[in-house]
Amino acid sequence: MTAPGVAFGARVGLPGARDLLAEMLPTLRAFAIPMRTRFRGITVREGALLRGPAGWGEFSPFPEYGPRESARWLASAIESAAAGWPARVRDTVGVNVTVPAVGPERARELVARSGCRTAKVKVAEAGQGEADDIERVAAVRDALGPGGRIRVDANGGWDVDQAARMLRRLAAYGLEYAEQPCATLGELARLRRVVDVPLAADEAIRKAADPLAVRAAGAADIVVLKVAPLGGVRPALAVAAECGLPVVVSSAVESSVGLAAGVALAAALPELRYDCGLGTMSLLAGDVTAEPLAPAGGRLPVRAVAVDAEQAARWESDPGPWRERALAAAEFLR
Ligand SMILES: [Mg+2]
Repeated sequence: MTAPGVAFGARVGLPGARDLLAEMLPTLRAFAIPMRTRFRGITVREGALLRGPAGWGEFSPFPEYGPRESARWLASAIESAAAGWPARVRDTVGVNVTVPAVGPERARELVARSGCRTAKVKVAEAGQGEADDIERVAAVRDALGPGGRIRVDANGGWDVDQAARMLRRLAAYGLEYAEQPCATLGELARLRRVVDVPLAADEAIRKAADPLAVRAAGAADIVVLKVAPLGGVRPALAVAAECGLPVVVSSAVESSVGLAAGVALAAALPELRYDCGLGTMSLLAGDVTAEPLAPAGGRLPVRAVAVDAEQAARWESDPGPWRERALAAAEFLR
């Protein structure tokens, strides 16, 4: 298990992770599923699945990630397939509906259809104006009613002055928190001193040491944790415990196999104050299982996900390059 604050370059994963991978590598199958909504500039979500004694694991680092960064994603897949997850303390987890940078009518529709009581609204989209954000958030508040919760996500798109101005205006609609309003820890820390809306760090967290840096800088009130970039459910739990800030568990827009690991983290956290960003299956045009992890009434069940041969065959891609990526990443495993 990766200890928080682990030295750069240290090997990651369960003890014997490389041997476990060698055993499971023959089971590897790759997928390429089109996205319904463009995300991080990608239109097709690609990844690989591994089967082990505990079930299935997903290895889906983004295309630009090199072997060292991908090793944590691989460690997470190996944990899921070979070891399973720690005990749960809850059987379902609440999730938010995600509202992309769409117009107010579409925003209202997405929220109404979702059954969720919490909405995450994209703001600060390139090419759009401040009025677009205000109208979208106003429409979401209208659709949710006064009891619903709204979080906005700027993906680091504002500078401090703009963030302060926009968050003061958007606060009129009642904000639960603002996710990564500015790009850097320094900006977040400055912003935090001048606005009342709680701030969450997302892009600032990609490694086990990052949440501790966020806390040390006084840059956020909440941390967004994703299982795969942190190397698995156990390392993410350790990070949450050491960091001491409230956690929002989010996905990296995986198939249901990867999402199940996020749900396992959310289910195992001793305290879970916020709904999770794990209701992302609807962003993909398909899945590798016959029973996708899709929310009902704004909640996801905590359960394992089995790959379905027919579904997986539908999205199957060449496993060769993924075997290569896994082997390259394995150099950084224990
Ligand atoms: Mg985010």
